[in-house]
This record gives sequence, structure tokens and C-alpha cells, in this order.
Amino acid sequence: MNRLADISRLAANYWQARPQAGFRSRAGLEKHQARTLDRFKQQTLTRSPFYRPLTHAPLHEFPVMTKSLMLAEFDRINTASISLAAAFDLAERAEATRNFSPMLGDVSVGLSTGTSGRRSVFLASRAERMCWAGMMLGRMLPGELFGRHRIAFLLRANNALYESVSGRGRIAFQFFDLKEKLATLHSKITAFAPSILIAPAQVLRELALLEDGTGTLTPQRIISVAETLFEDDRAIIETVFARPVEQIYQATEGFLGYTCSAGRLHLNERFLHVERDWVDPGKTRYCPIITDFSRETQPIVRYRLDDVLADDPRPCACGNPERVIARIEGRADDILLFPRDTGGPVGQLMPDFVARAVTGARSRGKQHTDVDDFRVVQTGSDALTIRLAADNFASACDAVRQAMVDLFEAHALILPDLTFHHMEPADFMAKRRRVQRLAAGAP
Ligand SMILES: [Zn+2]
Repeated sequence: MNRLADISRLAANYWQARPQAGFRSRAGLEKHQARTLDRFKQQTLTRSPFYRPLTHAPLHEFPVMTKSLMLAEFDRINTASISLAAAFDLAERAEATRNFSPMLGDVSVGLSTGTSGRRSVFLASRAERMCWAGMMLGRMLPGELFGRHRIAFLLRANNALYESVSGRGRIAFQFFDLKEKLATLHSKITAFAPSILIAPAQVLRELALLEDGTGTLTPQRIISVAETLFEDDRAIIETVFARPVEQIYQATEGFLGYTCSAGRLHLNERFLHVERDWVDPGKTRYCPIITDFSRETQPIVRYRLDDVLADDPRPCACGNPERVIARIEGRADDILLFPRDTGGPVGQLMPDFVARAVTGARSRGKQHTDVDDFRVVQTGSDALTIRLAADNFASACDAVRQAMVDLFEAHALILPDLTFHHMEPADFMAKRRRVQRLAAGAP
């Protein structure tokens, strides 16, 4: 009965999300955000018991929302009177049975893929799922709503959200469950013959390595989602498939960013308000605090994400004034912390610096890196465990040890004890964290 309403919501968002409909200036975009924020307060936040008393206050007076506050106040924040216990119960049962359409009425329930600590739960109504699908199609397939596409979506868990893009126009959409072995997945995907391949970065990389020289998969577009796309992965994927890798920066918290026609990663500011919580004194990296105007069932207001984004202040050639980020660097919790060699406060080492030092490590006289894959974990204020996958493990260890000596010297930090191990096989069901700091690892 609501089919017409579904289509009109989807079409409205699709239309708005197309680059042709974008704003020409930052001022125009900000004016749109201010108007949309007012409407969002009146239409959505007045229905949330938690936010109702605040609707007349300016946004900066709203509390910064964290995962723990969201969980503690979940029952009062959402506008559908759904309790946290009921939502968790349903989502966990659905995950255990790999049934990915858990619903409370018409509200779908998604669990965040937690890397540590408690997981969060996110609600979306049917109307929101239609808005999301329209937004996604407008961003990624502008002008092609009625084109022919075969989209393969490789994820750890499917979500009713993703199914909402299927059956639009002549778009065939298939979910592939990463719980299966990669070789099995590879033959299933080959049989599906996708024109668009969407998967986490490390899975795209492994597919590229399987694919190398065979040419059985020939997607026209390759889109990395759900985790940091490292430069060494990008190089492998782009070389094998002879295509640029695009990114969708999508989390259970919302649709946060996308690659534009000029190949740069924009924040989805037409639909989101983003505050920058700088994590370094030089203001080059920040954790985003997002307010998502498109969420009605579970308002996302000043929600602070743990992701560290590297700012890119250069305007984009595509003309879109939405902010550009150079990359998603990883989690703020994974910024390594070490004492400085001059004393004074603890110094930070960004995960990206560590990753680049390791992947760039090479033995004397060699042109290419010795390292195929790696994992670096800070286990104490003076201890770093490094796992490497390499053809020649001993020479890779030597090269990485020298790269670490140089890196710590360049940042004026005391070199910790370095312990080297062989890398374990990749686990696609876990979100990849190549650089990690254990909670006990802070000085
Ligand atoms: Zn652009």
C-alpha cells in the first residue's frame, strides 16, 4: 500500500544526491543545512523524549553523543518506543541464524560491527531505508537509475538497508556472506558476473590476488567499504582490475562519504552536519561529530565517531563544496602513544604513519617492499608487536626494524622494544585493524 510513498521518497533523495543537484558554494550548502536542521528539530526531535526539551536550543548546546550515552539513553532517544533489550535481542538472534532482515514492525535493527567493547544497535524504518537507497543510488549511480547493473555486495552481515536498493530499475543486487571461504565466494561471484563489486578493502585485495592473471572477474566499478583502504591494497586492486578503486564511507551510524567523479572522497554534507573534533595540535586530523538529518527512528545528533579522518583542505575539481578527506585513517583508539625522547607529554603516532613506514620498508638496494601484509600492535608504553607476511621473513624484519628506527627518530619518540612474528591468516569476519593500540598499551 505504501509503494507509491516508497518510490517518491527514494526518487526525492536520488534526485537530491546526484552531483548535478549539488551546491555550487559552501555558503549555499550551509544555508541548506541550517534549514534542514530546523525542520529536523521540528519534525523528528520533538518526537524523541530525550531531545524534545532541547529543540529550541542551538545545535552546539546539544550533548555530544557517544556510544555509551546512546546505549544508556536508547529507550528515550528513539522515536518508536523500542527498548534496547528488545532491539539487541532481535539483532543478536538474527545474526546467529544469518537471517538479515530482523524487524520490529517496519523498523529494521542493525548491529555495529564492533572491533572492541560493547556493540551498538541502530534502527531504521522502511521510509528511512528508501531514503538511504535513493541517496546511495544518486551518489554512486547518477543518471543511471534505470541503467542495467549487477551489484555484488560482500559483507560480514547483510542488512535490510542494503536489500532496499535491489529491484530498482534493472538493478540486480546480490549479497555474498563473508562467512564463506574466499575461494567459494570467488566462484559464486564469478558466476554472478557483477558490473559493480562492493567489499571491504582487505577482501577486494584478496580477490585481486586470487584473480591475478585469470581475468574471470571484470567489474566496471570497484567500491571499497567498511574499513580503511590502505595504499598498498589500493595499488594491488587497481593493478589487477585496471580500474580505480572508489570508496563508500558507510557505517551503521550513517552514510558518511563517497568518492566523486574527480576521484576524491567527500563527506555527505547535504544529508549530514559534520563538526570536526581535531585530534592533533596541527589540525590535520579529526574525529567527525555527525548530525544526520535523514534519521527519524533513532536520531543521530552530534554523534562522535571514533574514526580519525585526515583533512584535505584543497577544493575539489568536481565543484562540489562538500568537505574532502584524504583518507579514513583508522580509529582514534588506535593512535599509538609513546614517550618523547625529550621528556614532556606523551607523543602521538598516527596509524597511517606506521602503515606507510611498514609497507614502504625495503632492504638495501631493493626497489620493492619486502612486506606483503602486516599487523602492528602497541602492547605497552615500550613494546610494539609486529606481525609480517613476507616471502623472505628475515629480511622483511630487518627492513621493518630499520623503518621503525627512522619513524620514531623522525617523531622524536623513544623507540620501544620491537617483537616480530609471522602473520596469521586473514579473518574476513573481523574488521581489519592493521595498526592497533591495546587499552593497556597507553603509557
Ligand atoms: Zn569532488
